[in-house]
Amino acid sequence: MKIAKLNYAYWWYCLSCEHENYERCMIVDQSEEAQKEFLEQENIPVNEDESHIMIVPPKQVKCKKCGKTFIAEEPFSHSSDEDSED
Ligand SMILES: [Zn+2]
Repeated sequence: MKIAKLNYAYWWYCLSCEHENYERCMIVDQSEEAQKEFLEQENIPVNEDESHIMIVPPKQVKCKKCGKTFIAEEPFSHSSDEDSED
């Protein structure tokens, strides 16, 4: 039997049509210093889920069914900042 290699992804429900969407996430090996610097420069939030890799969620998501776009929020965002818009 062949092996299907699984990759990390985020899933979310569309706020408009409730379609279940999956988004690929960028996985950064911490040993790749250049990529780390790039992420810092771009101000992309970084999730340290495992010891050696960082998982970077998308900033925006687009529903594959209805095409609406939303701002993406991390599931476990440790946001200490002041922005709490609802
Ligand atoms: Zn939708």
